[in-house]
Amino acid sequence: MDKTLRCTVCTWRGAWAEAAAVRVQPAPLPPVLEELQHAYEEKQLEEEQLGGHKPPACPVCGNHTLAVKLHRSHAAA
Ligand SMILES: [Zn+2]
Repeated sequence: MDKTLRCTVCTWRGAWAEAAAVRVQPAPLPPVLEELQHAYEEKQLEEEQLGGHKPPACPVCGNHTLAVKLHRSHAAA
């Protein structure tokens, strides 16, 4: 399983394993972004409790990443 992740703060995008291999201190963020990070944190905790895996932090800025959903087509759902 090698999911693609993208950072919610910077422009980093890469493999799950790549992010998991690196640990950085989260960069200081403006309050608005901090709030967003907390929202992501809560969402990820929920997913973890449902048996999901919490994505590792961004290897560049240390903030939250999201799994990139790979769309096979542009067909509307
Ligand atoms: Zn980042």
